[in-house]
Amino acid sequence: MQDRTYTEDAEPGDEATVAGWVHEVRDLGGIAFLILRDATGKIQIKFEKDEMDDDLVETGLGVSRESVVTVTGTVEEEPRAPTGVEVVPESVEVIAPADPELPLDPSGKVDAELSTRLDNRTLDLRKDEVQAIFEIRSEVLRATREQFREVGCTEITTPKIVATGTEGGTELFPITYFGREAFMNQSPQLFKQLMAGSNLERVFEIGPIFRAEEHNTPRHLNEATSIDFEGAFCDHHDAMDVVEGVVKAAYEAVAENCAEELETLGIADDFSVPEGEFPRLSYEEAIERINATGELDEQLVWGDDLPTEGEKALGADVGGHYFITDWPSEIKPFYIMDDDEDEELSTGFDLMHPRMELVSGGQREHRFEHLVEGFEQQGLDPDEFEYYTKMFKYGMPPHAGFGLGGERLLMTMLDLDNIREAVLFPRDRQRLSP
Ligand code: ATP
Ligand code: MG
Repeated sequence: MQDRTYTEDAEPGDEATVAGWVHEVRDLGGIAFLILRDATGKIQIKFEKDEMDDDLVETGLGVSRESVVTVTGTVEEEPRAPTGVEVVPESVEVIAPADPELPLDPSGKVDAELSTRLDNRTLDLRKDEVQAIFEIRSEVLRATREQFREVGCTEITTPKIVATGTEGGTELFPITYFGREAFMNQSPQLFKQLMAGSNLERVFEIGPIFRAEEHNTPRHLNEATSIDFEGAFCDHHDAMDVVEGVVKAAYEAVAENCAEELETLGIADDFSVPEGEFPRLSYEEAIERINATGELDEQLVWGDDLPTEGEKALGADVGGHYFITDWPSEIKPFYIMDDDEDEELSTGFDLMHPRMELVSGGQREHRFEHLVEGFEQQGLDPDEFEYYTKMFKYGMPPHAGFGLGGERLLMTMLDLDNIREAVLFPRDRQRLSP
């Protein structure tokens, strides 16, 4: 393509070609403006009708909103223009005209329903505040990768088509694989553990997980992005240290590199990097504190899962990120190791944001006999997982890890109401396309 200048780089005195979308045409009579928008911002194009070629004026002002145009001209200083500069055009070319009937208004003047927005994501992402979410998402993923590398991890990718599930059968999506039944993977759990036992030792993966959850909630997707870690010679305390580092690194990077996006989202003043160590509460303390808030109709007892209302009450009480540790073994998955001293307790942990769970993790069971027993207790056939269990016979070190929900991290960081705001093309109970 011809040389093209981003709107943010246009400097007074330049002869430049800018390219982008027609944000708005403002006709004031003798003078008119076309506002052109690209990935970096907007720029004003000035048409002085009496002094310019009629064809040029007609093309520039007759073009429908959201059409793609290129404009070549001189950049001039203009204090009254939104960016302090404007382009006096010599030529305007319409590259791709847009249908004047738009399904949603990218200028944001008219609000659209979330479903209309998701059906027309291309147009939706022409809005500054929606673009900002995905610029921040990209920065979060970059910072996350960097932080994992900082602590000695190798990035891996593992299969998403699998023969067996791990997190319980009801949440699996079955598919047909050359006439055989297969499933979309719910989590890279088993694969990442197999790599903790390899010479890679410390691994991370950022990839999709698939959960056939029946419920439609503002914090569940049927395809989500999981940020996974697994490390050899790590216990659950080490894994908590790693995830705490990753979450803080993500916030720090956004604070440092996304000031403009936070401004656009209107949260610049409220945004803060979590400070100090995340408190580590035992499950027992957690239920005591929830009971003490008096928010629940019924008091929680040992062994109960924490209800959403309980998590919210505790979150409000703690007021920041916190861990819940020492869960009852019976409510954590079989691959989580029990406490050394008390079999009733597991090494599993959750990292909570005041609004919701962000992470589950723990130390893993690495002793072959205990592992096989765990499969049986969970009602799973260990033979079906032989590809996994057999590697525990050939030198599997103690290891620990976690899974962090990428969209939940973003949703809580940016105070989004709905997790669907944090993913380009969400998959939920109703939505399979786009
Ligand atoms: P929840 O109880 O909140 O449904 P979970 O305990 O079933 O979550 P885990 O299996 O522990 O989820 O998965 C680890 C992390 O992955 C969760 O803490 C969450 O951040 C994310 N996650 C899991 N399921 C989903 C989902 N359906 N949509 C979005 N994120 C998810
Ligand atoms: Mg969990």
